[in-house]
Amino acid sequence: MSSRSLQHLHPVLQPICQEFLRQTAAAGLDILIVCTWRSNAEQDELYAKGRSEPGPRVTNARAGQSAHNHTIQGQPASCAFDIVPMQAGKPVWDAKHPHWQKAGQIGMALGLNWYGKPGAPFREFPHFELPRDRW
Ligand SMILES: [Zn+2]
Repeated sequence: MSSRSLQHLHPVLQPICQEFLRQTAAAGLDILIVCTWRSNAEQDELYAKGRSEPGPRVTNARAGQSAHNHTIQGQPASCAFDIVPMQAGKPVWDAKHPHWQKAGQIGMALGLNWYGKPGAPFREFPHFELPRDRW
């Protein structure tokens, strides 16, 4: 089970994530953090989806390649978090819903790389990542 705890984010990303949640709430969005850190074993399970396992492909990153796998001195320090907007208590997975765009704009304004932005190489709407030069 991957982590949803903000304490498992990189120390630079923690306050940015908190500010992201504050600003999205102020904009009327109800954002759920679905993943912060995940282990290499959990990453390999995800990578297998759509390859050796059924279902659509959900990631192009193998164990150790994802920003979610990042550690500092062996401790979880994810450089990315994944979200989903909630409405009436239910997750809205349809990426055409306007709350995705709004959340993306807020995250990008805070300096994060949002993988749902138009032209992203592998569009992954839930994923917000700390730029590599800040890891
Ligand atoms: Zn992600």
